[in-house]
Amino acid sequence: MKAFLTIAFLYIITFIFAFTSNAVAPENLNKKNVIVLNAYHQNYHWADEIMRGIFTVFDDKKKVELFVEYMDTKRCSDSVYYEQLANIYKHKYNNVAIDAIIACDDNALNFLLKYRQEVFPDIPVSFNGIVDYSNTRLQGQKGYTGVHESFDLPANIRLIKKLHPKVKEIVFVSDLTESGKALIARMNRAVPQFENQLKFTYLINEDLEVVKSKISSLSDSSIIIWAIYMRLPNGQFMSSNESIYIIKETSQRPVYCIWDVVGQGVIGGKISPPFYQGYGAANKARQILAGISPDSISIDDTPILFKFDYNELKKFNIRESDLPEGSAIINKPFSFWAEYKLMIIGVFFAFAFLIALVFMLFYLYRKSKKDEVVILKRNQELKQISETLKQTNEHLQFAKYKAEESDRLKSAFLANISHEIRTPMNGILGFSSLLQMGGLDHEDELNYLQLIEKSGQRMVSLLNDLVDMAKIESGTLTLHKSTFNIKDLLKDIKDFYTPEAKEKNLELIVELNHESKDDTITTDKSKVEQVLVNLVKNGLKFSPGGHVKISYKNSPDTVTFFVEDTGIGIPEDELTIIFERFRQSYYSKDNTQQGIGLGLAISKEFVELMGGELKVVSKENEGSTFWFSVLKY
Ligand code: ADP
Repeated sequence: MKAFLTIAFLYIITFIFAFTSNAVAPENLNKKNVIVLNAYHQNYHWADEIMRGIFTVFDDKKKVELFVEYMDTKRCSDSVYYEQLANIYKHKYNNVAIDAIIACDDNALNFLLKYRQEVFPDIPVSFNGIVDYSNTRLQGQKGYTGVHESFDLPANIRLIKKLHPKVKEIVFVSDLTESGKALIARMNRAVPQFENQLKFTYLINEDLEVVKSKISSLSDSSIIIWAIYMRLPNGQFMSSNESIYIIKETSQRPVYCIWDVVGQGVIGGKISPPFYQGYGAANKARQILAGISPDSISIDDTPILFKFDYNELKKFNIRESDLPEGSAIINKPFSFWAEYKLMIIGVFFAFAFLIALVFMLFYLYRKSKKDEVVILKRNQELKQISETLKQTNEHLQFAKYKAEESDRLKSAFLANISHEIRTPMNGILGFSSLLQMGGLDHEDELNYLQLIEKSGQRMVSLLNDLVDMAKIESGTLTLHKSTFNIKDLLKDIKDFYTPEAKEKNLELIVELNHESKDDTITTDKSKVEQVLVNLVKNGLKFSPGGHVKISYKNSPDTVTFFVEDTGIGIPEDELTIIFERFRQSYYSKDNTQQGIGLGLAISKEFVELMGGELKVVSKENEGSTFWFSVLKY
């Protein structure tokens, strides 16, 4: 992941850089020849970084040919050497048309100031890495431009004071190279403003042993500034790495720098990165190649910045938060958090948002589920209410029907009863008047008297029915048990109703059970008789011809009586209602028969009181069979 992101980052930077450098490139630049005169040598960090800056600007070899010359003056810098270098360059570039020279560091500039006209006559120069630049240095010279190295020594001293509040002494180590001299000069200018606060000790151009012995005994309140200490008084040269290593081996005190040797064992400081030296000088060389006169190109400062080594900061417990804002820190271990802080925060918020979204959706889902349950429950409740209302409605309809029925029955009852009273009454009154008028023969008189008696009996029967019904209604109906013989009872009924049957051309049959030896039962005889008579009378009443037959069946506990007729029958849907009070079969209505619809209702009550039940089977136009059982004891 890290590798991928790094490659992607480099790609983008390279692309942007390539784009911008192309953008500023003069379009009609023919291939130019530029000599880079580097005062030092390869693998010297400072010199390498300057070269990186130059290569960054001149990245297109088709347009510019760079001739790089390392003068190696750290190792050798006497006048003979320079003289010989001048001869070599003169010889080497005699036939090369040089368009510009980039001079890196003081020794290169000084060389050109002395030999340019002889070796590279009138070739414009862009310089860099000039430590202590002043205008006087180029006085009377033409064809020079460039950048100089910026320094801010007071800022470095203030930084040391801030990071090491207990500091009392600053030990300044330098050689007497051109760079060293320039740095000493700058230090001398900076010191006065701190003189009352700090002691400054200078180890200038000292032998290595002297330096070592002095710094080995430094107190805890001393800090070292490694200015530049690469050439020893005996002319021996050390690399910056070697020099810093020796110092750190000798002293445990923190070492700061004032130019870019960060990464070689120093804590750091406010420095001028060599990259910008090379980059700045190369850009000015481009302007020269584009035809601009070097004398009209300004000589500028280069950026300076705070740069530190993470390992050294850790070693001396210096917190990053105490460093100046915008400080660059090298050797810092890769921190995923530090590197991708914004991305992590973005991803975190995106996740938080998604999680919140998921929770919200879950909440809404749960709520909708709950609502669904509530709605279902409400629905069920409504269904129940609707069902209850439906039932109530049905009950009301039924009650209404019952009320109407009751009203209709009441009217029918009143009409019937008035008919049932008026008919025999008229008979009694009519025949009584005829008898009173006299002049009748004896047979007629007898006939009329019989009719009057029949009418009276009919009225008595009606009254008896009403009294029985009243008793049933009031719950005062009781049994008067006696032991009697069934056969005797049935014979009596046959004898009594045969004449009436004959009158209607009907045969009244009584089927006695001759095999039965004991036909005596103990129950309410008058009620058994009343039920039988009622059934026989109905059979006679509703049978236009044929017969009415009475039979019975004995069983150990009960006796069952059957009354069968060959009459008009009863429709199936009326087989139940005929047992209700004042109800008469619709079918029998056409027959203008007597009755008010109480006989079967009273009979049913009597039978049930005697421990039995009253039933009927019937077929229209064929006849009916009523039967009822009673307990024998
Ligand atoms: P009533 O005979 O006084 O009308 P019941 O209660 O005895 O009253 O009979 C009720 C009704 O039952 C009768 O009006 C008649 O419609 C029907 N019914 C009873 N017995 C018979 C029968 N044997 N054949 C046909 N219909 C009958």
